[in-house]
Amino acid sequence: MGRLYAVEIVYRGIFQKTLAKNLSRAIVLAAHREGKPGISFGRYGDSPERNGIPAKGFAVVATDDLTLEEGMAKYEPKEVDVTIAVDDTLCKGVESWAWYGLQPINRLLKPGGVLLVTSLEAPATLVAMAHRKETPYRLAVLKATPSFSGLWVYKDDHTDVRILGALAKLMPDLFSLVSLQEVIAEEWKDGLKATSALRAYERIETVEVPAGQGNPEKPYEFQLPKWHEMRDGVAIPGIATGGAMRDPESGQTGGYRPARNPTFKKFTTRTMRPLIDFTKCIKCTLCWLQCPDSCFDVTPDGLYDANMEACCGCGVCEAVCPEAGCVTMVNEAEFHDNASQWEAWRHDPDGYLKLVSETIARRPADRSHGFRFRGQYQPQAAAEIEAARHP
Ligand code: SF4
Ligand code: SF4
Repeated sequence: MGRLYAVEIVYRGIFQKTLAKNLSRAIVLAAHREGKPGISFGRYGDSPERNGIPAKGFAVVATDDLTLEEGMAKYEPKEVDVTIAVDDTLCKGVESWAWYGLQPINRLLKPGGVLLVTSLEAPATLVAMAHRKETPYRLAVLKATPSFSGLWVYKDDHTDVRILGALAKLMPDLFSLVSLQEVIAEEWKDGLKATSALRAYERIETVEVPAGQGNPEKPYEFQLPKWHEMRDGVAIPGIATGGAMRDPESGQTGGYRPARNPTFKKFTTRTMRPLIDFTKCIKCTLCWLQCPDSCFDVTPDGLYDANMEACCGCGVCEAVCPEAGCVTMVNEAEFHDNASQWEAWRHDPDGYLKLVSETIARRPADRSHGFRFRGQYQPQAAAEIEAARHP
């Protein structure tokens, strides 16, 4: 029996589809140069893929055909040597679609396996985001702005070859840097990309994450109904009505919080979140009307509180709000819970407003996903390639 290697690539649907495909394909091609057969494939919990919703690609490689065949007899790997998270906010957990619950980013990692994340955050921040695991693992951070593209546009900022270069260092048995450079020469025909891969190979480092370290929260999960519990035919329950909210400070009740899907919360789709300055709100209702996911709770005092369990981070509320600085999209990685912003503001108005202004001051200059016009990404990609060469 030979050795089986499994790598999963966790990515944001659509925005990172080409990146994930490039990675899984190149892993298999590089291993193949060393006589190891392999296969790359994608998996999505539902079809078609949707904007930003976590999705997965896999590369499975073996030392011989029989071992690969045996490995591929499973629907997808149950454990992996490496998990690549191409967006750091995926470290908060992955919920691809209803009925999955929240899956920790490190769930499939073998003991001692590597979690490789593209991020500008410090390793300690990423460890705190990821759920605790009963076995130790290693964390490697590839210093980069998480790369986002569109369905038809690929932002070629060298994230693909940089991750591959790091992987050659972290998993030398899977493929060597030499094999990778041959694949880059054949597939991309770009000497600059070969240099980027080499730099990542030289610089990547890992930190040990001991068992039990990380986010202590128990990921939410759902019990699938047994076959004998299912109802006849196809029956989809209607949406329940919502109810009033209660002001924890004054005890006043009122407003309206709609009931929401308890089996699909959507917040793991988010890379940025709206932060609301309630002192600037003129109660125009536009955010409440335009949010595509009915995220806004109407508070007893008539304000609008974006519910962070339901928000997918699309940014529509920021775009429609007529008051400057009232709704601002900020970096999701800065937050560690989905608590109500309105309750935080009611509890400590000055502290909340200080947090709003400080978080806004630190927000990324560029939106993290989506391109609005052809070529928009090119200056950003050129700057990132340069930064990767001369950090
Ligand atoms: S970013 Fe705003 S509009 Fe978009 S889902 Fe969240 S609350 Fe709704
Ligand atoms: S769009 Fe802005 S001003 Fe209007 S209700 Fe929403 S937060 Fe308030």
